[in-house]
Amino acid sequence: MPRVQQSKGKCAYCGQEKTKGVMTKHLSACPEHQSLIEKAERNKADSETLYHLRVQDAWRKEFWLDLEMRGSATLKDLDSYLRAIWLECCGHLSQFSVGGWRGEEISMKRKIQEVFQPGVELTHIYDFGTSSETLIKAIGTREGKPTTRRPIALMARNLMPEAHCIECGQPAAWLCNECLIEQEVWGTLCDDHAQSHPHDNYGEPIRLVNSPRLGMCGYDGPAEPPY
Ligand SMILES: [Zn+2]
Ligand SMILES: [Zn+2]
Ligand SMILES: [Zn+2]
Ligand SMILES: [Zn+2]
Repeated sequence: MPRVQQSKGKCAYCGQEKTKGVMTKHLSACPEHQSLIEKAERNKADSETLYHLRVQDAWRKEFWLDLEMRGSATLKDLDSYLRAIWLECCGHLSQFSVGGWRGEEISMKRKIQEVFQPGVELTHIYDFGTSSETLIKAIGTREGKPTTRRPIALMARNLMPEAHCIECGQPAAWLCNECLIEQEVWGTLCDDHAQSHPHDNYGEPIRLVNSPRLGMCGYDGPAEPPY
């Protein structure tokens, strides 16, 4: 059987790289994470149920996030976060639903603790034209004080998937939109070939960023977490 290489991600607390499959276990054992939790417990803030959400692109599962989210925060908070880190190109509509694309829409005003129960998976659609589809599942909860004042803490994120230049096989850092749009080729390019590549109908090659939306509807980043 061919060995499928598991996507790796980085723990936001200690910086260690772990595969997607073992990251959950790592986060519950990570000393840096644990000491932050202990520190938060000494705060005056109220305890609440905190949700460990595993977020992944529906089609390109090498793009994933582990978030800890307050039960009292809303889907709107999650929508804003996903837009900032992965999706926002030109202010398209978005929605959450349960039961997939054509499932039942869930209002953005709903609280995390009202919608997530074990086994429930939500679908998030951003842009109903060139749509990005994201799956969100609660994979654990804990009672306690949040480690941040924000609604969400980013606990782990996939590393940028490796890409190779279509012309020479060297590591790539650029993407040609013309290859993508006119030839449906994922035209990744190294620094040298990004300079000499002949296509310019859609402008210069764009920099590869860590988002499943790259190249869709002209999305070119920055793919940075908002906090
Ligand atoms: Zn760690
Ligand atoms: Zn757009
Ligand atoms: Zn090259
Ligand atoms: Zn090209």
